[in-house]
Amino acid sequence: MRVLLIGVDGLTLRIVKPLMAQGLLPHLRQIYEGGVHALLRAPLPPAATTRWQAILTGLPPRRQGLTPGDGEYDRCLLETVTEPQSASRTLHELGQGDKALWSLLSAWGRRVLVANVPETYPPRPLNGIMLSGPPAPPFYAGLAYPPDFASRLLEVIPNYQLTPTWRGLAAWLGEPLMEIRRLLEERSALLDLLLREDWDCCLFVLHEIDLLQHLYWDRVLDLQREVVACYRLLDELLGRALSVLRSSDLLILLSPYSFQGIKRTFYLQEYLRRYKPDMPVQDTLVQQRVDWPARRRKLRLLPHLPAQRRWRVWRLAAPPAGGGEPPLAGSSLLLLPTSSPLGGYAAIALADHLTEKQIEEFMADLQAQVDPATAYPAIGDLYRDESCPGSHVPASEPEPTLPGKPTRRLILLAHDGIMLSLATGPRQLWSAGEPCCGMHHPDGLLCLYGAGLQRSVLRPVSAYDIVPTILAALNIPVPAQLVGRPLIGAGAPLASPFSI
Ligand SMILES: [Zn+2]
Repeated sequence: MRVLLIGVDGLTLRIVKPLMAQGLLPHLRQIYEGGVHALLRAPLPPAATTRWQAILTGLPPRRQGLTPGDGEYDRCLLETVTEPQSASRTLHELGQGDKALWSLLSAWGRRVLVANVPETYPPRPLNGIMLSGPPAPPFYAGLAYPPDFASRLLEVIPNYQLTPTWRGLAAWLGEPLMEIRRLLEERSALLDLLLREDWDCCLFVLHEIDLLQHLYWDRVLDLQREVVACYRLLDELLGRALSVLRSSDLLILLSPYSFQGIKRTFYLQEYLRRYKPDMPVQDTLVQQRVDWPARRRKLRLLPHLPAQRRWRVWRLAAPPAGGGEPPLAGSSLLLLPTSSPLGGYAAIALADHLTEKQIEEFMADLQAQVDPATAYPAIGDLYRDESCPGSHVPASEPEPTLPGKPTRRLILLAHDGIMLSLATGPRQLWSAGEPCCGMHHPDGLLCLYGAGLQRSVLRPVSAYDIVPTILAALNIPVPAQLVGRPLIGAGAPLASPFSI
């Protein structure tokens, strides 16, 4: 048995179901309706990096040695393009500690191909091929292990790029859609090239649908022809994958999170600026303030989008106007730069001196923020990162403290359809949404196809179940420290007819 995992960031049933019904996505339909599918639950926040780290290590963030929400690459696509050296600890480094799936597979002598998985730059030696995912520099030989794979790739696709080239976007009639389509075609050719190799497990991730939905959610909802063309390219890629599968192979199609529209905006930064200015001030937190000059430097890298969309993206990403001082300098509450309005979540640092009572009062006040127009709350979920839901870590386990990081944080998950804006200045804390932009929704999707599996629908499964499932399929013992369970095999929800 071999395992092919194709990850599609942001794939959303609400969008693809009508397209499947119209017969426009025959291969996706074959996988979705012909196999097993389930809702995929994963640790919060619903950021690509957090989700992929959970999926490909099988470990909750703190057991990976990470603080959840750091090193997000997803914001980079819209705000900063790439800043590869800024990533603190990456999956690559985790792999050195034998915690990533490809390290385990390599150690068991399985040949593994890894392409476009977030936070895998620089690539590491493994028994197979690794092509780094974002964030990473523009394409060059150092993105691949072994480096000669990069030359082979460039022979087939001479201008292969890992991420969109914004210069290219401007040239394409001011429409990024052409660039997204070009990237999807390149990904198909890359998958073809990889699947011609000898492999036991192939892990292949696509980010283009996420980008498409962030930029053109309004057109996606309308199923306009030019955006449907992108989903059809995805379907063609799935068709190529299906064509090389043997009957005993397992295909895993998963989306680490889905998408939703932005109906209303809550000005979280402005709310924090106004919240209890008489709170005591503490020096250490002030030192951790946002580096606005650095943020402004990054903003110069904003993509060359059509003017109206560029303005909207700028508004989503922009620091407050006028002066280099952060609006919360000296406050006890600080919105952290890991916050992502389009990711649907925000992180707040709490000054060390705040008492539990003060924190509870603040949390209660925040949760009481209700949209006067709709009566919906701004915050869907709110938690302390030391008690991250879904992490399944016993309370007795000490949390590793990373140098220079706030030790107490709140993670805020926006209510459905509400964007937590980082802008300051508006008189009202609420305004209408951003209909052109989509943002992440926490629900993911898992489909298992092939390997003799019968058509069925499972109860929601966990991101932590993916690694045990792949190990079970490849007849490798599941390490005891993994918190998930195999979905196939003896005693599992899906008994496979093939011996494993
Ligand atoms: Zn995204």
